[in-house]
Amino acid sequence: MKAYFHVAELVPPGIYRRFGDLRSWNFVNRYAFGHLKELREYVGRPFIINNYRNGGPREWSGFRTPDSPYFSPTSQHSIANAYDIICDGLAPQELQEIVKKHYRRFRIGGLELAPAWTHVDWRYNLTGDLVVFKV
Ligand SMILES: [Zn+2]
Repeated sequence: MKAYFHVAELVPPGIYRRFGDLRSWNFVNRYAFGHLKELREYVGRPFIINNYRNGGPREWSGFRTPDSPYFSPTSQHSIANAYDIICDGLAPQELQEIVKKHYRRFRIGGLELAPAWTHVDWRYNLTGDLVVFKV
């Protein structure tokens, strides 16, 4: 499978600046990221997670540290287990429909129906069902 993502797309700038191209991977959850790549390959369109490395504003769409204004100790982002995706060429609602239909294939545990992005996470549900929520 293609790499699809640079590590800076998965971790915030403070982590990337401090730990660089190799050790920043220590802050990526292998299980969640592996399935994120599978979802990306299935959808077949670019996923924007963080884009600060290319001058964009998104810094906290993957792993979040307490420095984040969006930090919550109980968020799946705080354990590197969630991504907020903007899909190039698909409306958030369209990607959310794909996740609802195929979440078992990608082992997705949580889906937030956000208006401008799609939050997916790999929380552990004993039933294997998808938790769908709105903020
Ligand atoms: Zn999120």
